Amino acid sequence: MRFEAPTTVSAAVKLLAAKAGARVLAGGTDLLVQMRTDRAAPDLIVDLKRIPALRTITAKAGTFRIGAAVAGAELGEHKALRKAWPGVVEAANLIGSHQIQSRATLAGNLCNASPAADSVPALLAAGASAVIAGPRGKRTVPVEAVAVGPGKTSLKRGEMVEAILLPKRPARSGDAYLRFIPRSEMDIAVVGVGVNLTLDTKGVCTAARVSLGAVAERVILVPDGAKALIGSTGDTQALARLAAACSAACRPIDDKRGTKEFRIKVAGVLARRAAEIALKRARGN
Ligand SMILES: Cc1cc2nc3c(=O)[nH]c(=O)nc-3n(C[C@H](O)[C@H](O)[C@H](O)COP(=O)(O)OP(=O)(O)OC[C@H]3O[C@@H](n4cnc5c(N)ncnc54)[C@H](O)[C@@H]3O)c2cc1C
Repeated sequence: MRFEAPTTVSAAVKLLAAKAGARVLAGGTDLLVQMRTDRAAPDLIVDLKRIPALRTITAKAGTFRIGAAVAGAELGEHKALRKAWPGVVEAANLIGSHQIQSRATLAGNLCNASPAADSVPALLAAGASAVIAGPRGKRTVPVEAVAVGPGKTSLKRGEMVEAILLPKRPARSGDAYLRFIPRSEMDIAVVGVGVNLTLDTKGVCTAARVSLGAVAERVILVPDGAKALIGSTGDTQALARLAAACSAACRPIDDKRGTKEFRIKVAGVLARRAAEIALKRARGN
């Protein structure tokens, strides 16, 4: 096994493209566990943490560009990002422990393609995009186009995520992420819900995105959940319609941490609670 630590994205892409069994190492908090348990044995590891261009968060005209090697803890320390996208930052800061957060990245959470990844529902709800660098240049795709199934992404040979982009927020917007775990810390989501919405001056919801984690083969958007909110003030009936839409969108597995029925029920309950938090934030409370 070879280890390389390039200092530019183009050098990283060149290395990744040259070897079929190459893997990107960002924080390594998934990859190293997979290697230690014989679930991954890459011929070549390409470390991204020494590429300065991937280590920064750039705020420009209300948008944010989060480099693929920025750790979760750094997101939590970025005041403007926390203010604009509290749901995204909270989701990232739920990942593991302080030790994990000092290494783990948003792009790694996305590319690990776990259906239960915590930051991914928040990113989908936010309408985030991923900048992908590869041998044929760069392309930008919505984050929902990256994971295609458990542990599988749409990235082609030689490609890597270079950055995550968060769009400019209209006024009176709020987002939130909630998950259910059987323990209070350090567990995998049994259900995760991301809600992001915008209100007009009268408090009526004009735009919304709702997403669910851990209830399908990958993190999913719930368009009917968004429809339930749009045009409402977030009243009890709208929240009930949102909960029903989220429960209906679930196609979960049964496992030792939650039955199908439990996940379906919890998805609705958490969606309502996440929407209530997002509404409060959008109203400025
Ligand atoms: C103790 C512990 C607790 C955890 N708790 C949680 C939790 O609560 N919630 C949760 O969601 N996850 C959790 N995780 C999983 C893990 O920490 C996260 O998924 C994390 O975000 C992965 O990021 P990373 O930078 O460490 O990825 P890495 O391990 O470096 O990479 C993960 C995968 O993505 C690929 N990859 C990484 N970056 C890129 C890129 N830029 N372009 C293309 N491919 C890339 C790698 O090749 C690898 O296949 C936990 C892990 C541990 C060990």
